[in-house]
Amino acid sequence: MGKDYSIGIDLGGTNLRVALVSRDGLVVDRTKVSSSGDLMASLTSAIQSLFNSGAGGIGLAVPGLVDAKRQRILRAPNLSILETIDVSSKLTARFGVPVFLENDANSAALGEMYSGAGKELDTFVLLTLGTGIGGAVIYKRKLLDVAGELGHIVVEANGRQCGCGARGCLEAYCSSRAIVEITREAMDSGRPTSLGLLGSPVELAGATGGCHSLQAITPKIIHEHSLRGDTLATEVLKQAGWYLGIGIANYINVFSPEAVVLTGGLTGAWDVYVKEAIRSASERAFKTLFQKAGIIRGIHGDNAGVIGAASMAFLQGSVES
Ligand SMILES: [Zn+2]
Repeated sequence: MGKDYSIGIDLGGTNLRVALVSRDGLVVDRTKVSSSGDLMASLTSAIQSLFNSGAGGIGLAVPGLVDAKRQRILRAPNLSILETIDVSSKLTARFGVPVFLENDANSAALGEMYSGAGKELDTFVLLTLGTGIGGAVIYKRKLLDVAGELGHIVVEANGRQCGCGARGCLEAYCSSRAIVEITREAMDSGRPTSLGLLGSPVELAGATGGCHSLQAITPKIIHEHSLRGDTLATEVLKQAGWYLGIGIANYINVFSPEAVVLTGGLTGAWDVYVKEAIRSASERAFKTLFQKAGIIRGIHGDNAGVIGAASMAFLQGSVES
């Protein structure tokens, strides 16, 4: 009898998301536990709650640098305990199945390739648009085994300071963190905006009409204000999208992908942020390459990482057919 399921785990700094995934790439069951406390104990019990006799492998999506060949976690800044534990050996010993490790953005790309937006594609670039910007490249149905720091290509020489230490990175202009920072800077300089003065649209619709604290401003709120006609909110999102388009044009010109697959919370602002990115990319990428490359949304959303992690067991043939 073959094994028809695999366990996929997305190791986040806040939560561990664990899913039982079927061979056709669907999440059959899932659970979420906090990553604080005894990580191995939480992980083991979460896996145990979903593990069944049909599960033939465990895959982990790791927020950091992974030596996938040797199955070691080299660096995980947001979950550094992982650097000191041999997770792979411990889980193999406990559950008696092969364990696979992969970087989280790589896992998301594998998930979209396995059963999502990239199912029918040979070559695509995936970007995760969130607090930071990550990404991965699937080249001819294989994960390109490179550093893949797609958020740290330079789109503005001598530009904004990036968390990586360099200046002008894509991430310093179009991540959630950057969008909020740029908005705050504009507000601090006295630019008029409904963000600071009028409260959220919810408050406007209701009765309270209070002010946002600056800490409470999120890209989602900025997008809501943009939709209600706030000039600053629209400008900030469009500028972020404009830079994103420069990045996308670079990826298109280098990899000639069939698609650039966008995932992450910022895709919620598709009508302003991504639309501007597509326009900006169209002006910069080689025309024939741009026409070939669709700029599309990922299908799996938050599940891409767990599906991709689980898919490694299927893709590497460790799960018998
Ligand atoms: Zn950077």
